[in-house]
Amino acid sequence: MKLYLAVFALLVAAQCHKLFIGDQVLRINAESEEQIQLLKELEDDEGWELDFWTHPVSTDLPVDIHVPSASLHAAKSFLHLHNISFTVMINNVQELLDEEQESMEVNAMQERSVNSFNFGAYHTLDTIYSWMDTLVAAHANLVSKVHIGFSYENRPMYVLKFSTGGNKRPAIWIDAGIHAREWVSTASAVWMANKMATDYGVDPSVTSLLGRMDVYLMVVTNPDGYAYTHTSNRMWRKTRSINAGSVCRGVDPNRNWDAGFGGPGASKNPCSDSYHGPSAQSEIEVKNVVDLVKNHGNFKAFISIHSYSQLLMYPYGYSCNNIPDQAELGTVGRSAVQALSSLYGTSYRVGSICRIIYQASGGSIDWSYDIGIKYSFAFELRDTGRYGFLLPANQIIPTASETWLGLKYIMKYVRDNS
Ligand SMILES: [Zn+2]
Repeated sequence: MKLYLAVFALLVAAQCHKLFIGDQVLRINAESEEQIQLLKELEDDEGWELDFWTHPVSTDLPVDIHVPSASLHAAKSFLHLHNISFTVMINNVQELLDEEQESMEVNAMQERSVNSFNFGAYHTLDTIYSWMDTLVAAHANLVSKVHIGFSYENRPMYVLKFSTGGNKRPAIWIDAGIHAREWVSTASAVWMANKMATDYGVDPSVTSLLGRMDVYLMVVTNPDGYAYTHTSNRMWRKTRSINAGSVCRGVDPNRNWDAGFGGPGASKNPCSDSYHGPSAQSEIEVKNVVDLVKNHGNFKAFISIHSYSQLLMYPYGYSCNNIPDQAELGTVGRSAVQALSSLYGTSYRVGSICRIIYQASGGSIDWSYDIGIKYSFAFELRDTGRYGFLLPANQIIPTASETWLGLKYIMKYVRDNS
């Protein structure tokens, strides 16, 4: 058994996968403002290489920290010393990663043998890209693949365009996977693309929506990062661009938009997971989307899909001031969440990014709102932290199915009110 494990570890290492053996995810429910401050200090300290999956903001929100095994003792001692209680959410991160990897391999074999695509599984970028061709081929009069440019590492970037005709009809933008490790976001977008294609002509609300509007759905908004989560580091969040003068790569593509750029809630440190980059839209992946949306000029909604925490948010992130449309977006958001919850009772919270999670500048939906796209929303999908970014594949279809109901509510509202 030991030998087997050693050989296995070698094999994994040979593929250059970053290992997380013995790493844990700790959950802290801070009880006071003082504890929040202590956790913020911990977050600013780079020495222990802590990866904050959620951030210390208020006593209402749990803080989930991925702690490398080498720092476990020190981190737990720090928490004990300050009387901060915690629970272990994930006991061994690598164990979950091994399970995830194994189920992907088993699934890939099954897909090859029956020659079909399983929507309830996670897939590599290549598989998703070839599935797009299958979808387009099966629904050629409705769906097309728009090539909007290349990523930093020269991967093509594609948007699925759902259209029944017309020229620059009013349109809805949906993007997923801008943060590489949020796999359920991309997997849900794949499912929803298929759903929209197959429900056209069947579900009257989809049929009438696409009779009047186009839908642009970007399934993998950060293809380099996504590929990197499969080949090298499952926990990668950012782009893969090289940062001048730093050994650390990548920019947080959701701190890189031209909306309060460089303000609070983004880091100027290239090694940080929320590094905003050298300038707004420095990331080609962001720039490509900005160009498409601006050149089009007739987007009525802009919706970004992330995970995790089960939230539906509207602008702003860069400021806690209310937007002029706050009442309307709040009402739409609450109704969308009601539709979403009707399927499995999954509970979501609704609010502005700044008020519901934390102040964060340079985000996509702040940018879209500020250029005049009123219906700007961001989803944070399942779960609330049991698995966090490592949501098991058997939750993909339930997650996508419920999200689709919320999304459809928003799209119908936009159809009727813009
Ligand atoms: Zn995200």
